[in-house]
Amino acid sequence: MARPPLAGGDDGPMTRLPLTGGCNCGAVRYEVTAPLVAASYCHCRRCQRRSGAAASPNAHPAPGAFRIVAGEDRLRVWKPEGGGEKWFCGDCGSSLFGRNASHADPVGIRMGTFDEDPGIRPTVRQFVSSAAPWEPVPDDGLPRHPESRHGTPAAARAHPPV
Ligand SMILES: [Zn+2]
Ligand SMILES: [Zn+2]
Repeated sequence: MARPPLAGGDDGPMTRLPLTGGCNCGAVRYEVTAPLVAASYCHCRRCQRRSGAAASPNAHPAPGAFRIVAGEDRLRVWKPEGGGEKWFCGDCGSSLFGRNASHADPVGIRMGTFDEDPGIRPTVRQFVSSAAPWEPVPDDGLPRHPESRHGTPAAARAHPPV
């Protein structure tokens, strides 16, 4: 039997595909069938309220690689005016993923919901202009975008974050 591919590449974490994850109560489960292509921290106010944290780490799957495998009927979504969809478990409230068709990476999986190491690390921070006053943005050398990492501040206003 062939070995499954490694999500993190030859020198990355030894993570096997599919990646799996889900919510706190176990109703909603998902899988990712190809290596993740990017990961980012978002410091926007919506992510702060949604997560309760200073920033939200999101991993971005390849097109078509992310799917819900259980509990689709338990999922709820909040779609703010001018923003992307924020999907969560209606039973336990766990925030699971966002979707914004106007983005180059249209799906953002909340990284804390993976069962195991997803094999990728965030490499960029966005919306640091709205970073929480009570926790300094880590001095980790990652590029910082005042607003959306997808474009200029003007484009960011047209395409708010997931
Ligand atoms: Zn749940
Ligand atoms: Zn955000």
